[in-house]
Amino acid sequence: MLTQNLGYPRIGSQRELKKVCEGYWAGKTGHKNVLTVGKTIRHDNWQMQKDVGIDLIPSNDFSYYDHVLDHSLMFGAIPKRYNEVMLKQGNEELDLYFAMARGYQKNGLDVVAMEMTKWFDTNYHYIVPEFYKNQQFKVFSTKITNEFYEAKQLGIITKPVLIGPVTYLLLGKEKEAGFEKIDLLKNLLPVYTEILSKLQDLGAEWIQFDEPFLALDLNEKEQQAYRDAYKQLRKDFPRLKFVLTTYFEKLGSNAELAASLPIDALHIDLVRAPQQLNEVLDLLPAKTILSLGLVDGRNVWKNDFDASLAMIKKATEKLGHERVWIAPSCSLIHSPVDLKNEHNTEVLTPQIKQWLAFARQKVNEIALLKSLSANDAGVGTRYKLAENQHDHASRKTSALIHNVIVKQRVKAITESDSKRSATFASRKQKQQQLLNLPLFATTTIGSFPQTAEVRSWRAQLKKGAITQEQYNTCIAEETQKAVKWQEEIDLDVLVHGEFERNDMVEYFGEQLQGFTFTQNGWVQSYGSRCVKPPIIYGDVSRPTAITVKWSAYAQSLTDKWMKGMLTGPVTILQWSFVRNDQPRSETCTQIALAIRDEVCDLEQAGIKIIQIDEPAIREGLPLRKADHTAYLDWAVKAFRISASGVQDDTQIHTHMCYSEFNDIIQNIAAMDADVITIETSRSQMELLDVFADFKYPNEIGPGVYDIHSPRVPNKDEMTHLLKKARAVIPDKQLWVNPDCGLKTRGWDETKKALIEMVAAAKEMRATV
Ligand code: GLN
Ligand code: ZN
Repeated sequence: MLTQNLGYPRIGSQRELKKVCEGYWAGKTGHKNVLTVGKTIRHDNWQMQKDVGIDLIPSNDFSYYDHVLDHSLMFGAIPKRYNEVMLKQGNEELDLYFAMARGYQKNGLDVVAMEMTKWFDTNYHYIVPEFYKNQQFKVFSTKITNEFYEAKQLGIITKPVLIGPVTYLLLGKEKEAGFEKIDLLKNLLPVYTEILSKLQDLGAEWIQFDEPFLALDLNEKEQQAYRDAYKQLRKDFPRLKFVLTTYFEKLGSNAELAASLPIDALHIDLVRAPQQLNEVLDLLPAKTILSLGLVDGRNVWKNDFDASLAMIKKATEKLGHERVWIAPSCSLIHSPVDLKNEHNTEVLTPQIKQWLAFARQKVNEIALLKSLSANDAGVGTRYKLAENQHDHASRKTSALIHNVIVKQRVKAITESDSKRSATFASRKQKQQQLLNLPLFATTTIGSFPQTAEVRSWRAQLKKGAITQEQYNTCIAEETQKAVKWQEEIDLDVLVHGEFERNDMVEYFGEQLQGFTFTQNGWVQSYGSRCVKPPIIYGDVSRPTAITVKWSAYAQSLTDKWMKGMLTGPVTILQWSFVRNDQPRSETCTQIALAIRDEVCDLEQAGIKIIQIDEPAIREGLPLRKADHTAYLDWAVKAFRISASGVQDDTQIHTHMCYSEFNDIIQNIAAMDADVITIETSRSQMELLDVFADFKYPNEIGPGVYDIHSPRVPNKDEMTHLLKKARAVIPDKQLWVNPDCGLKTRGWDETKKALIEMVAAAKEMRATV
């Protein structure tokens, strides 16, 4: 029995890679420094895994920005627009690489970056390969062989990780018509052959091919591509050993296909899909090894050794010890690095800490599971098992986690709790009577610039340099300025500006029971950007009102309507590490009840327009189509529970950022928000078409300007977009607003843009 790891965090335990890359981009440090930091991180990771006793240690799992981009560079899939960057005197391979990732605006050149998108259903973003008709590939970067050699010099024969050829192609995007990306397979395979033969010459024994697309729905042609690709590679390399990894979902309909490929080991995710073990055990050919993905690479909880050992036992009984490996469910890049970096017991209490395992601890768990499943486990190892059992038992019964009142409340939810008491048509009448808003009513999505000054107040408060009272005064003044200014430019529905919030999820998590935080639990989101998701460890409840004070204060400053701002239950869930001892839907319902209470309290305080942001609803969609309905049912219901406690004349808004609504428009409509604001400007209102085709009945605010860029749009650009909107959606349903919140913008551009936006709305009204 061997242990393997599929990938280890590469940001460094103190985010060293982020710091050095950002220093390099700012021109504050040289490229050699970046390479040195990278090398140190790789060495530390390899050495640690060796010391812990991992048998197959990955290499090429390190990346300076993104591992998919690494592959594009390795295969010479470099779009032509970067040719000049490449030729520029003094530019290194690293500069070309970063140019592809982030664009290049230097030395008289101005080249845009490659597109970025989400890595399956994670919050990691990868750089999308660009494909052209008849594209040829050619080995360009030798990073993979360099890193193999680097580890070998340390005395470690690693297992190089490659994204498999089919997955690599499916991750990309066709940039011109007339071909299908999967057709490029025959052009791509020769570069795999060239790379593998170099690795073989250098002494590689095992190669890891990541093929997560095997856990998704595949068409006939894609399935055939898998057969062709691995047949060819096997033919070229009869002696190299291949481990094919799948993760994030069950193999399901592709189980037979995966088992039939000419590989030496198959890895499956038994955290996401424990039920697939039996099926795969039955399908596995006589000599193939099964790698059990038992340790959760996507979450922060300690492994349940008893449950894992039971699965290992089942597998070894069928296959024998030799044909069973122990592994994490997927690469550990989705886990925070090391629990040892959490020192502050006020932030993360010892009681909660004992239930957690970050990447470093997970590597230990993998090694321990191997020792435990050997019959000769020593006293020390057996002690670890007892300790693990104890921690799990304490989690099952801890009063920190289990709150009877919350559980009872969830059980008592009835049909009517997730329904507004009147239809949209009759609510609309009552809201109109009360709110008396014009056609093309103007508003913003919530946040105003989080300037360095605003953030510095929070930092000072944290350090104890200013008192809570002083902090509140600063926030109050900033809010007051924002309210006055919105009145001045004649916006219709105002916002308080969200100056008091560090982050739209963290702010709520901090005031809800059942959430905790880390000091250093960073996870790579994209490139040098890391996020520190809250941890939902227990039943969620809301001890006291969260936003009422600031919203009510803001309302008291103006005679216009002030919109209350909340983050929705699905988004809070989606952007946190979620407890794994109950279904996600249950946790989401608990959050929904807490937000519902907040909505009702806001209404009580006189806030008659309340926005519940749900930007993450789309990204929570399961990877397989067959699972969509079940998810959407509970997600939409959670939103409705949060929104349905109010009177008919209270107007509920929701907001979603850039999303494809095509396949979910029915569910969006089922959310029954009185108003939905969406990001549409970059698609030139195209995203509205699906609402029009569906005859979406409620009101819509299609974003009329892109907030991701400092560029100030003028009135005519916005009326142009509004005219496009009115061509498909009736005037009486339309609102006017930017694409999203303005927290990342400066005041100067924000002010100019919103003045233009109000003028555009007025021009539209004049033409009704
Ligand atoms: N209300 C939030 C804001 O304006 C919404 C942010 C989001 O959609 N991501 O910042
Ligand atoms: Zn948004």
